[in-house]
Amino acid sequence: MSQTAFSSLKLKPELLNNLATLDYQKMTPIQAQSLPSVLQGKDVIAQGKTGSGKTAAFGLGLLNKLDVQRFHVQSLVLCPTRELADQVAKEIRKLARAIHNIKVLTLCGGMPFGPQIGSLEHGAHIIVGTPGRVEEHLRKGTLQLNNLTTLVLDEADRMLDMGFQAALDAIISKVPSRRQTLLFSATYPDQIQSIANQIMQQPVMVQVAATH
Ligand code: ADP
Ligand code: MG
Repeated sequence: MSQTAFSSLKLKPELLNNLATLDYQKMTPIQAQSLPSVLQGKDVIAQGKTGSGKTAAFGLGLLNKLDVQRFHVQSLVLCPTRELADQVAKEIRKLARAIHNIKVLTLCGGMPFGPQIGSLEHGAHIIVGTPGRVEEHLRKGTLQLNNLTTLVLDEADRMLDMGFQAALDAIISKVPSRRQTLLFSATYPDQIQSIANQIMQQPVMVQVAATH
């Protein structure tokens, strides 16, 4: 049995206090199984159904190691659609409420470039976006990821289904090779296994079965 109290984790006190404020009383099964490894800096592949709390499983990991004083992009979360990216950004902002001056920026396709470029000039700690648009910013030079410490692929199976493989490859070629990579997926087809083999270092596998 794994511990389910957030206080059993090595989380910064401000994050723990905020979880209490949010009334997150205990970890969901996928959080309990993945957060200890995530917080140790390991690469993790986690498979679990919608609503199992995957966002906090990676969100707390990247927030716990974030240095808000260093104003450059430290984490990139890639999502298949704008709606999902908006949801993830909203959840991360909620989890980050206790961290002053933290900047979470979304970069999604279907949105005008100008304001995104303006926001990037102001700087961000965490970027949540869709692969196509993130890759475009990298190609244009409006986004640099030289200081990235955590890369998250959320709903990786859907990103591949949507044809984002080439954009993902291009992004991965432009992020530091020394980084933590976290991959979340509802399913684990061969294509995901092959991506994981290419971009992850000895990943810990976490699988949470559907409960009903
Ligand atoms: P998934 O990405 O696995 O579909 P989400 O990360 O979107 O799931 O989480 C689903 C909902 O559960 C969100 O509204 C989130 O705020 C809430 N939630 C996540 N973890 C906890 C927790 N430990 N306690 C209470 N609510 C939680
Ligand atoms: Mg999710």
